[in-house]
Amino acid sequence: MSLTPQAGIMNIALYEGGKSSIAGRSDVLKLSSNENPLGPPPAAIKAISEAAVDVHRYPSTDHAELRAAIAKAYGLEAERIICGVGSDEVLQFVCQAFAGAGDEIVYTEHGFSMYPILAHMAGATPVQVAEAERVVSVDNILAAVTEATRIVMLANPANPTGTMLPEEELARLARGLPAHVILVIDGAYTEYAEGYTGGAELARDLPNVLMTRTFSKVYGLGGLRIGWGYAAREMIDVMTRIRQPFNLSTVQLAAAQAAVEDANWVPNCTRLNAAQRARLTGALRQLGVACDASHANFVLARFGDEAEAVAVDLALQAEGILVRRVKGYGFPEGLRMTVGDEAQTGRLIAALTKWREGQA
Ligand SMILES: *Cc1c(COP(=O)(O)O)cnc(C)c1O
Repeated sequence: MSLTPQAGIMNIALYEGGKSSIAGRSDVLKLSSNENPLGPPPAAIKAISEAAVDVHRYPSTDHAELRAAIAKAYGLEAERIICGVGSDEVLQFVCQAFAGAGDEIVYTEHGFSMYPILAHMAGATPVQVAEAERVVSVDNILAAVTEATRIVMLANPANPTGTMLPEEELARLARGLPAHVILVIDGAYTEYAEGYTGGAELARDLPNVLMTRTFSKVYGLGGLRIGWGYAAREMIDVMTRIRQPFNLSTVQLAAAQAAVEDANWVPNCTRLNAAQRARLTGALRQLGVACDASHANFVLARFGDEAEAVAVDLALQAEGILVRRVKGYGFPEGLRMTVGDEAQTGRLIAALTKWREGQA
């Protein structure tokens, strides 16, 4: 090719989303993308239809109303919030603004697959460090930091393991990093971890910590693409310079605001999730399938080996159930299963039980 793309771009392996259909089946249960079984909040659906009549108008460029609503709901300062097209875009802002050719972005062994993609998009070098038994290792991260490191990215709770660092460990990492390194705490699953605030205090206190959050998971708005970040004003100001002024549409802004203003939504969804997550975890273990305690809205089931995971995936598909293969995350023997509602979880457990009984 005579056209030469920027360095790093051809290193990007395309992101693979969870499958959403099975040929010839109309009763598919999609448990492959950690979506909310309750869907979006009714108030958000109403806001979307109301906003539709105004789409000839350009949207707000400063997102002031949405930032104020987020600040109120989470007890944060609106001027330290930036909104993006999913939290993925906020992660893209921080990489593009603070890392480039010759710089390193550290992420962990089973970290979210977007992290190396975002590093390459910025022309930076992704550096992967080992975890300890499927949990992020603060010591390994600190040992991997060099003069060239600009950003450390991790999700807490993590995807696809569902494990998390306790707040003290997160604080030890944040305070242990040199001042030239930004710690990104990706909080996509924060709400599902009881009593946890996503690293908000660290982002408030330290100039080099960015917390990212999303409307895609507990708020059930993944199809609409809205996320946000919280950090020191200086970091937000830098990122705002590379944010397109109209990155979020009128419809996105209205839906997100209505969702975050519904104070009952998160507690209702997380209560359902906690109960069904415990039920699914218990059932897997009863069937002799290994899994760590999850702090998110999915469970990583670890089977005997890759062949067994493939067999289970096919057995579930035969029952119309889609889960996520996670070989690319270093778990060839694993299947990540989104926690559904009571009926969906029952259907999944029944299919797993049928597979196990079919083996005997
Ligand atoms: C789902 C997910 C996100 C959310 O991405 P959006 O762009 O906000 O939809 C971010 N990080 C992790 C680890 C996730 O699993």
